[in-house]
Amino acid sequence: MSKVLILSGAGISAESGISTFRERDGLWEKHRVEDVCSAGCLDTNEDGTKKFYDARRADIKDKVPNYAHKLIVELKHKYPDEISVLTQNIDDLFEKAGMKEHEIVHLHGFLRELRCRECDEIFEIGYINQDEFAGECPSCGGKLRPNVVFFGEAAPEYQKLTQELNRCELIVVIGTSGNVLDVTYFAQLTDYSILNNLEPSDAIDDSYFTKVYYEKATDAIAEIAEYIEDFLEARFV
Ligand code: NAD
Repeated sequence: MSKVLILSGAGISAESGISTFRERDGLWEKHRVEDVCSAGCLDTNEDGTKKFYDARRADIKDKVPNYAHKLIVELKHKYPDEISVLTQNIDDLFEKAGMKEHEIVHLHGFLRELRCRECDEIFEIGYINQDEFAGECPSCGGKLRPNVVFFGEAAPEYQKLTQELNRCELIVVIGTSGNVLDVTYFAQLTDYSILNNLEPSDAIDDSYFTKVYYEKATDAIAEIAEYIEDFLEARFV
């Protein structure tokens, strides 16, 4: 059972050059959520939605993991059973840093995958456009879609988040504004909690966190990693 839950968001990938959603110059400044990332947009704007995710997929192809991704992967490999890594990110920077598929949960899906809207089969397509892979599901002929959770859709992987929150004693939150997931509530559920963002967010009450770092993830991560190691060594290992 994992004692430490590391939960990341768009901010951890910002220093690798992938846009966050809500900040200045973020993706929402250039696209309307309701057009490309909301339940139903595949029916009302299928081409625009496909194009938006084709562009996101192409964008991550050459991006490389930063020190924060790498150190978290190192920690996970050192304490495989004690640490769980969950991310809201749909990019593959943890995987590029060496994380195996079973070692990480992508709560909001994974850009490199398509899913059939009929039979739910998942296809890994790398960084190519959806239509370059196939016009329809190779298994059942149904329509394909990005394997990404849109606003207003169910997020099946949240079940794992709930399980981990029930078990963990330390939650480490890195690079999320808290607008989608209520990380203040998560901090209230756990004995110890760490928050790392660039700046305070209206959606987070940081007084509930044991430790707060308002600085770049790549600057904060070494101290955070040390805290996690000390925490685990003192209690469980
Ligand atoms: P967000 O854009 O709402 O907030 C980003 C947060 O990261 C902010 O609080 C900001 O202070 C912090 N931040 C920015 N740069 C940072 C840095 N260098 N170091 C530390 N913190 C930094 O992000 P969110 O809360 O993850 O948004 C929710 C949704 O956006 C998620 O569902 C996620 O799937 C999606 N998203 C994912 C990606 C990706 O996969 N890389 C990119 C954009 C959006």
